Amino acid sequence: MKESQKQVDLCVIGGGLAGTCAAIAAARNGIRVALVQDRSVLGGNASSEIKMHVVGADVHGTRPGAREAGIIEELRLEDAYRNPQRCYSLWDLLLYEKVMAEPNIELLLDTDCVGCEKDKDRIVSANCHRQSTEETIRIEARFFADCSGDGRLAAEAGADYTIGRESKAEYGEPLAQDIPDRFTLGSSILYTARDHGRPMPFHAPEWIRRFTKDDFYMRETKSYEYGMWWCEWGGHLDTIGDNPAIRHELLRCALGIWDYIKNSGEHPDSASWALDWVGALPGKRESRRFLGPHVLTQADLQAGEIFPDSVAYGGWPIDLHPPMGIDATTEAPCNHVWLEALYGIPARCLFSRNVDNLFFAGRNVSATHVAFASTRVMATCAVMGQAVGTMAAVATKKGFPSARDVLPCVKTVQQTLLRDDAFLPGLRNEDPLDLARTAAVSASSTAEGFPPERVIDGITRPTPSRFGTWADDGDHAWRSVTLPATLTLTWPQPVTLQEIHLTFDSGLERPLMLSMSDHYHRRQVNGGQPEIVSRYRILAGGHPLIEVVGNHRRKRVHRLPTPVSATQLHFEAIETHGAPEARLFEVRCYARPTTQETDDKVEA
Ligand SMILES: Cc1cc2nc3c(=O)[nH]c(=O)nc-3n(C[C@H](O)[C@H](O)[C@H](O)COP(=O)(O)OP(=O)(O)OC[C@H]3O[C@@H](n4cnc5c(N)ncnc54)[C@H](O)[C@@H]3O)c2cc1C
Repeated sequence: MKESQKQVDLCVIGGGLAGTCAAIAAARNGIRVALVQDRSVLGGNASSEIKMHVVGADVHGTRPGAREAGIIEELRLEDAYRNPQRCYSLWDLLLYEKVMAEPNIELLLDTDCVGCEKDKDRIVSANCHRQSTEETIRIEARFFADCSGDGRLAAEAGADYTIGRESKAEYGEPLAQDIPDRFTLGSSILYTARDHGRPMPFHAPEWIRRFTKDDFYMRETKSYEYGMWWCEWGGHLDTIGDNPAIRHELLRCALGIWDYIKNSGEHPDSASWALDWVGALPGKRESRRFLGPHVLTQADLQAGEIFPDSVAYGGWPIDLHPPMGIDATTEAPCNHVWLEALYGIPARCLFSRNVDNLFFAGRNVSATHVAFASTRVMATCAVMGQAVGTMAAVATKKGFPSARDVLPCVKTVQQTLLRDDAFLPGLRNEDPLDLARTAAVSASSTAEGFPPERVIDGITRPTPSRFGTWADDGDHAWRSVTLPATLTLTWPQPVTLQEIHLTFDSGLERPLMLSMSDHYHRRQVNGGQPEIVSRYRILAGGHPLIEVVGNHRRKRVHRLPTPVSATQLHFEAIETHGAPEARLFEVRCYARPTTQETDDKVEA
């Protein structure tokens, strides 16, 4: 077998949304990354292999405005714009495109991490196999991020972890078990179906499960197009070791549910519907959870805790399922405990307490079973991924040997995340290099309640009090009255400008996600989000610097080929995707490039 060797700053194992966002964040912040994914596509449970839709802190829009920003928002906006037909393969390809666009990332698809080499408490290399090229690949790195869900690298490295449900006493959690056990949430196989407008019989294979109406007493069987997320089984088994048996049972269940819909007589309106896809891989919800210096708990979530080292946030309810899944016929398939506020996720949950250079992001982070029941949703996994990539970049650039070394400079991490459009509850832009913060701001017109100086108040979304105790009910955006409209930044002395950042309003109060569910798909805008300014110009001292047509992104970073000196910068909004006025959350100005992220559609 061929052997090859690679050396990078950060090696990310697992290309789900956590790993993909970790790799992109690290690469854009200037370090060399290897992203190792065992499948042929990126996205994990959000990919065409599983087809689960990405939810997060806005809870399908029931906490309006809490939708995650940063890299996951960039992905969602691009998908809504390019993929109104809801093709999951296009979503896979979008993730692929975003990763391939980063010169600092080497993507290794179809590659399994199977072990590692260590030196005392450090991982020296991840050892990987790629069957398709008959190759073993040894990847040396300063830092590693296990974003693989199951945590193969971290387990091989001897990182402390736990499996199963804690007792109430262990972390003082009322929602935990009286007696601890090794049960987890189960896995699921989804299917999709469509209406053919003519009778479509379903001839069920012999080997499926047979269900009766009583089996679904607590379960809703009406959404034909999108499969049943509650087709869940195997939480009472080992979701890693017993995966083949779990898969077989889930296939029996998925086809059995469809047989019930088609052939029980209970759903006559399904007569013209037929399956067009059945998952082949169990979507896995839970296995190992690795332990960091802090373990996130029910109390942290319910208090809406904002930690000094918060680098991500969540807000999805505590969403517990019976481990017996579909066999727990007398129990609801999920039990949602609503969280009143958004909660912070500290950096200390995202690295190992006993392996020095190992981060985690995704469903395997340091949280109790109860807290994991909220952190596990994919937009939350994505923002944890962005945080880990950013921490690894900061630690690498500072020459730190250990993940925990980022704690004393967590403010740098937080400010970098904010600059890269992440939202961190309770924090605002305090970047001393941002020249916009020292400017006077005026506008050609101002809608009542949305003054121009909001673009430098450091917060890039409305923060209604329902978000938490730190929230201020501010809107944090400038809005004009009509279009076109101009916003002007003025400095008393000339400043040097090379990079200009703009953050638009992308309608965070609406749900936005690729979903096979017609119900959810109908609630989002497919295309450019109406509030986003689609056409604009940036001028300095009366000279046009940048003109953009067809923008559909929330965050734009414009880097000028050469710096300019000016006392005034004008932003001219010309058109939007529908809103009759310009809306802008933030302008930042820098004298030098800040990130690897550039805007390719700039017409200077
Ligand atoms: C049926 C189901 C319904 C769910 N419903 C929702 C929902 O509606 N919305 C939502 O947001 N979340 C939902 N979840 C939860 C969510 O999907 C997971 O918690 C989330 O996918 C975890 O993200 P991740 O990036 O940590 O892992 P994954 O998405 O699992 O990605 C990890 C990737 O790493 C790869 N990998 C694993 N081991 C290795 C290795 N050794 N080497 C290389 N690569 C490896 C895997 O193949 C995978 O592609 C659901 C989960 C399931 C199963």
